Parts: sequence; structure tokens; C-alpha cells
Amino acid sequence: MERKKLDIGLYGFTGCNGDQLVIIHSEDKLLDFFASANIRSFSLAKSDNEQTPLDIAFIEGSISSQEQVEHVQEIRQRSALLVAIGNCACYGGIQAMELGREGWDRRFQSVYGENFFEVRTPIESKPIDAFVAVDFRLPGCPIDADQFFAVYSSLIRKTKPQMPDYPVCAECRWRENECLLLKGQLCLGPLIAGGCKAVCPSHNLPCVGCFGPVEEANVSSEFALLKEKGFTVEEIRRRLRIHSGSGVLKSLKNLFGEV
Ligand code: SF4
Ligand code: SF4
Repeated sequence: MERKKLDIGLYGFTGCNGDQLVIIHSEDKLLDFFASANIRSFSLAKSDNEQTPLDIAFIEGSISSQEQVEHVQEIRQRSALLVAIGNCACYGGIQAMELGREGWDRRFQSVYGENFFEVRTPIESKPIDAFVAVDFRLPGCPIDADQFFAVYSSLIRKTKPQMPDYPVCAECRWRENECLLLKGQLCLGPLIAGGCKAVCPSHNLPCVGCFGPVEEANVSSEFALLKEKGFTVEEIRRRLRIHSGSGVLKSLKNLFGEV
């Protein structure tokens, strides 16, 4: 029996649109993607977007204005499932680097001053789950295309997507990379969820954490490893904040104490 096509929407809030671009640039899968469901809305790819009830809404970007709060709440109301895609939607992104610290008004003022600003009611930028319930997170900056289509296939078949429960280090070792941590560089690989195929350390760049925290049980021993290598809690915390605002720090609160 033929499966009924689901109604899908893709939306972008504050961010670079990089996650939607990853999907659009997957040319070999794009025709199948558009044939697999009724794509009711895809803000970067379509102009005839519809405001209909959805089976799944995929949302990229953080929320940084009152107008966006209302928009994301409106999407939530008409969507059976809501999936946050990308680091900004999942954890706030670099625009939420200082989230949880005081002085947002002062920081905003120091950047924009009294200049005309077209967003009427800006607010401190936060991840999607600060405003609406999120059913599933697909992190990354940007997301990994293979991971997106694997998750997408599971969701449209109404099965639970499998996500890596191991850190970036595991993928790094599978690629037989030389460990940057052992060479004295602060690489967050031990604390961060796999899924990106260790793309940064494979190009000799330390991981800065864009896939968010790994959920494996022995993360505290991985954290101890970073400290053993001579990095201070403050250095690790500062590096983790780059991509993850206070979200990641909160989930690692037992290791850091106060965020
Ligand atoms: S610490 Fe960084 S370089 Fe070392 S194995 Fe982990 S991800 Fe790779
Ligand atoms: S290695 Fe780290 S920073 Fe680079 S893509 Fe993977 S999770 Fe993101």
C-alpha cells in the first residue's frame, strides 16, 4: 500500500541559512526529497509557501525578536513534530555566545547604538526550545547532509532516528587522524557529539563544539582528560561558549559548576 505523503515545512530564523543550503546543495537527493513529501514551505527554496497544518516542521536559526517568537509559536501550533536543525536552532549559535550572562541591553547598544534597526522588537537571541517544545534536535554548523537525510527518512517513516552517542574523537580515530590534543591544542572533540565525521580535526583544526554535547556516560572522564592536558576550566568554558551559548554549558553543569 502506498504511504500517504506527509506535509513538511522548512523555516529559517536568525542564522546564516547554512542548514537549508546544505539541503539545497544535495543535488543528488533533491528530486527524491521533493517527491517524498508535500513540501508546503521551504523558505530558501520556494516562493509559494503555504501556511497549512504540518506533520513535521524543520526549523533553523535562533530566535532574536518578538516577531520571531510569535512566528515560531504559530508554526508549533500547526505542526505535529518540530525538529530544530543546526547549531543556532539547537543551542543558540554564536549569537547566543553570552546567553545567561547579564548585560544584553548594553552589548546590543554597543553594537547597534542608536542606528536605525529594522527589527522592531529585538530580544536576546536564544535557541528554539526557549520558546516552544522541540521534539528532535539535529545539530551542526552547518548540519551534515548524510545525517539530515538519514534523520528525515526515519521521521517520514515514523521511526525514531538514530543519533551518534559517541564523541567527535571516535570519528577522528576512525579516520586515523593525529590527535591535536596530544599536540597541545585545545580540541573539544572529547566533549562534543559525533556526526560531522570529524571534519575539523581532519583538516588540522581543533573542534570548537558545533554539534553540541555528547550524551555518553563517561563525559566527565573526557573532561578530566582536557584538564590533564593543562587546559583550565575557564579556557574550556570560553571555547564551548563560541558555538553553544549557555545551552551546552548547562548540560555539562555537573562538570563546570555555575555556567
Ligand atoms: S581531541 Fe580532537 S584531534 Fe584528538 S581525537 Fe579528539 S577530535 Fe580528534
Ligand atoms: S569537528 Fe567540531 S567544530 Fe568541526 S564540524 Fe565537527 S563538531 Fe563542529
